[in-house]
Amino acid sequence: MSVLNAKEPHHILKFKCKQCGHCCDSTYIQLAPFDIKNICDTLDISTQKFHEKYSMFNSSDNIPRCYLRNRPRCPFKENKLCTIYNNRPLRCRLFPLGRVYPEDLNESSFLILPEEKCIGFDTGKKIKISEFLEQQNVNSLDKLSEEWNHFLITLKDNPTIEKQEFKQSFKETFYGFENKDASLKEFMEELYQKWNIINQIYQIRV
Ligand code: SF4
Ligand code: SF4
Repeated sequence: MSVLNAKEPHHILKFKCKQCGHCCDSTYIQLAPFDIKNICDTLDISTQKFHEKYSMFNSSDNIPRCYLRNRPRCPFKENKLCTIYNNRPLRCRLFPLGRVYPEDLNESSFLILPEEKCIGFDTGKKIKISEFLEQQNVNSLDKLSEEWNHFLITLKDNPTIEKQEFKQSFKETFYGFENKDASLKEFMEELYQKWNIINQIYQIRV
């Protein structure tokens, strides 16, 4: 497994996706609220509908995390291709790279995933990481993702997140929002503001 520093966008990757579709059914795809909004907008469905059909949750570290329900098969894959390609989650855009956010909130870095069954490694042209990210249209979501992951890291210090009621509020705020017409940046800011208000009320009550 190779770890690359994200500050080295000149780093070369030798990779070309062969569109075999294997990674779509074998990778854990964690979804940020903006990923969910993008998919709901594309399919014109509510977040409630989205969760009924497409998501699953894991709260093993006390912070509810939302994942695409892509086992045994991603519901958005048809004939090995992605039917929501232009609005696919950030995790899908990054593959075969993955973002790592260090706990100390310092720089982020990339991790090359050793996906044994990926036939795209060591094929195709050599490409700079920066070019790969541009091709995958990652940059527009990258900043939002960094903020979101840093926010999740800071939550680990909040003892109230262990309480069931708090977890439920967290899920409703960040994963059960009402879909509105707003830029992704505005949308995320609104969610953080809402959470701050809930958090303050909760701190007063406990
Ligand atoms: S497993 Fe590799 S080659 Fe196959 S679709 Fe995924 S990224 Fe492309
Ligand atoms: S959303 Fe698209 S790219 Fe992502 S796993 Fe599903 S089919 Fe693959």
